[in-house]
Amino acid sequence: MINKELENLIQNLINQLSTIQNNFDDYQNQYFEKKSSQFFCLELNGEAGELANLEKKEWKGKNIEFAKFEDEAADVFIALINYCNAKQIKLEDALINKLRRIEQIRLESEAKGEKY
Ligand SMILES: [Mg+2]
Repeated sequence: MINKELENLIQNLINQLSTIQNNFDDYQNQYFEKKSSQFFCLELNGEAGELANLEKKEWKGKNIEFAKFEDEAADVFIALINYCNAKQIKLEDALINKLRRIEQIRLESEAKGEKY
C-alpha cells in the first residue's frame, strides 16, 4: 500500500514533469546547438561540482551569498533536464519507478523495525 504523500507526489510528476521536460527540449532545440548526452553528463557533473564547492567553502566557515547556491542549483537542474532529453530518458517515468522502489524498501525496513 502506497502512502498518500507519495501518491500526491507521483500525481504531480505525472501532471507536470513531462511538460516541463518537453518545454526545455523545445527551448534547447530552438535556440541552442544540439549536444550529446555525454556533453550534458559532463556538464551536469561540473555544475554539481560547483555547487559542492560552495557547500565546502561554507562548511569551512566562509560566508557564501545565498543567490550563488540558487544559481548553481538551477545549473544542476538545467543540466539534468538537458541530459535526460539528449539521452531520451523520460524523467517522469524514471522518477516514479525509483520513488516506488525506495518506498518499498522503506516499508520493508519499517516492518523490520529499522530506519531507512
Ligand atoms: Mg554553474
